[in-house]
Amino acid sequence: MKLGSGIMYASVIIEYGAKAVDREFTYIIPIRMRGNIKVGHRVIVPFNNRDIEGFVLHISDRYSGEYKLNEIKKICDSEPILNEEMLFLGEKIQRSILCSKISIYQAMLPKALKASYGTNIGIKKKRYISLNVSYEEANKFLNECKYYKQVSIIENLITNDKIPVDVLSSSINTLLKKGIIKEEFYEIDRYQSHTIGKYKVVKLNESQQKVVDSVMLDKHDTYLLYGVTGSGKTEVYMELIDKVLRKGKTAIMLVPEISLTPQIVSRFVTRFGTQVAILHSGLSDYERYDEYRKIVNGKVKIVVGARSAIFAPLKNIGIIVIDEEHTATYKQDTNPRYHARDVALMRGEYHMAPVILGSATPTLESFARAKKGVYKLLTLTERAGGGKLPKVMIVDMKDEVKKGNFILSRLLISKIQEKLNKHEQVILLLNRRGYSSILTCRDCGNVIKCPNCDITLTYHKTSNSNRCHYCNYSMKNVKECPVCGSNNIKDYGLGTEKLEEELNKIFEARVVRMDMDTTSKRGMHEKIIEDFGNYKYDILLGTQMIAKGLDFPLVTLVGVINADSSLNLPDFRSAEVTFQLLSQVSGRAGRSEAEGEVVIQTYNPNNYSIVFAKEHDYLKFYHEEMEIRKTLNYPPYFYITLVNISSRDYELGFSEANKIGGYLRKNLSSTTNVLGPTIANVFKINNVYHYQCIIKYKYDEKLNSVLSKLDEIYKINTKVDISIDINPIRV
Ligand code: ADP
Ligand code: ZN
Ligand code: ZN
Repeated sequence: MKLGSGIMYASVIIEYGAKAVDREFTYIIPIRMRGNIKVGHRVIVPFNNRDIEGFVLHISDRYSGEYKLNEIKKICDSEPILNEEMLFLGEKIQRSILCSKISIYQAMLPKALKASYGTNIGIKKKRYISLNVSYEEANKFLNECKYYKQVSIIENLITNDKIPVDVLSSSINTLLKKGIIKEEFYEIDRYQSHTIGKYKVVKLNESQQKVVDSVMLDKHDTYLLYGVTGSGKTEVYMELIDKVLRKGKTAIMLVPEISLTPQIVSRFVTRFGTQVAILHSGLSDYERYDEYRKIVNGKVKIVVGARSAIFAPLKNIGIIVIDEEHTATYKQDTNPRYHARDVALMRGEYHMAPVILGSATPTLESFARAKKGVYKLLTLTERAGGGKLPKVMIVDMKDEVKKGNFILSRLLISKIQEKLNKHEQVILLLNRRGYSSILTCRDCGNVIKCPNCDITLTYHKTSNSNRCHYCNYSMKNVKECPVCGSNNIKDYGLGTEKLEEELNKIFEARVVRMDMDTTSKRGMHEKIIEDFGNYKYDILLGTQMIAKGLDFPLVTLVGVINADSSLNLPDFRSAEVTFQLLSQVSGRAGRSEAEGEVVIQTYNPNNYSIVFAKEHDYLKFYHEEMEIRKTLNYPPYFYITLVNISSRDYELGFSEANKIGGYLRKNLSSTTNVLGPTIANVFKINNVYHYQCIIKYKYDEKLNSVLSKLDEIYKINTKVDISIDINPIRV
């Protein structure tokens, strides 16, 4: 050990290799950097003969290793990128989900600040020109100048002070050279989409006020706000945030990506103005970086955003709200597999701030916690605007099919016509994009599948192609069976394109479709919603994209075309997801005075998730579903961890999966239940085979160490990958 030698060392974490393995290496801090370098700084270090970026995690005056150390080459930014809280979160999340620490730090940062090679997103400045002489002199110049263009520039500057210019014209250059005008550069925000309107003050009703008053603002607690759709939860959030701001603190408001529509954004922006930053996936890297800098510099007090906004580097957080807390996208489904709710609780504790989880259909886990008193339960049972919950009708599609109606039932057709006649609007949900989902040969029975995946191809009529929704493989639509050559190909299954076609056949109506295919272009999603809101369309049809957060007063009918699509998923949460989806879309109808109606088409009219959704009875659904979970040892009675084993080599994957199953059974506690390996729901994706082991446990103190060890072993295996998903969303 070298001690007291006066040398200072930094331990630097770098991103290493495709598996994002955590590697911390020690480097010498050169004398010139002493005093400048801090924990959290991004630095450039030599590694394997090249220069790469990393973060300083520790600084020390001792080093006990044997290696000859290199020096840090450069400090990248004037201030540390990772602050104390982020470093703390990194440690804590790493322990709770067993991912690499570097992957979490990268997830926290906008692209421009990640430790990687060659990213270079600077601050954008804009050039402005203004007069460099007095008005008198400018006027004198105008009288003498005979060049029309120069005159108009000077006239413009006399009235406008300064004007932005992108390209220097020869006239501007001349004026600059003569010293009559000057140029200056100002830093600008690249993201300026939201316009600020006037905030319409809503006076909270008694139950809303009671909820607001129950939240203790200077202490960390988790609250579950269970309130029916339209009960005024958003107004409650805004009121709480207002109170927090008046205490000089800041707020994070998480919404599902899909709710980041102009609707919710404009409610926040009109109320809080420029104090709000909006983070959504439609921002470019530049815009995201600008928003991030505004947050770091304390220029904004509220961050509204989807999942990753939970990492927004606000200081002095006074409240964190997660709206629609049951939404699956709050959990990231790639590494690092963090759940925004868990991170919210960590940050709430760190800042001693309340966390509010809101939903009309809370997850069973959250509601069970609220009933046990782990979360504090707040409820809103009535719609705030006075509107009633809609009347829900269920159609048994088995009867319809006998009559030859495969797509739209007689009831739904007549209801749509009725609303069209009254100049009201209709929303239709069909959770499947494309035209048809299965193509089969009627002669040999061959089903056309993706060559890379274990998935049937979906026919897209608009592009006349067959596409895989897993790997994006696309081929021109086949007219002949690739196996037997017959041209007797039949397509089954209903997608949004076919539904759109059918609607246009039956009705004289303005129909708009919203799914991943029609919203891939930037801004399209917002445009469709805006146009529908302005009554440019009568019928909006789409995938679950349309289910959430939209508030259109003219919508009086919601139709669910195939309620079974989520029910038939091989997943223990399928009933819960179905109930949530049906309740959520039903909530879109009748948001104002006009009463709303909902028609649900299903082949399982007696399924409890459908029946209770019809009755708007979350509590009955909760009790029934809890019984089932108890019987089957599923969450919230047991925890689940999923180990996914994948390989391009079918045989090798299978044998390693078996080894892993055995290893888990041998090393975990005897009360823990290890199931599998089995093949995963989708066995082959992109030519990679997937196997899985399911671990069920109430408490297992060995779990973390056993899984970490497994993870270590497979990190260096190039043929077999494992991924560990603690509390997975889908099993
Ligand atoms: P949720 O978030 O629970 O779905 P919102 O906050 O969006 O509910 O409220 C639903 C509708 O009721 C909105 O149009 C909102 O403006 C209106 N609203 C909410 N609170 C009140 C209130 N206290 N008085 C009148 N209207 C209200
Ligand atoms: Zn065939
Ligand atoms: Zn595929």
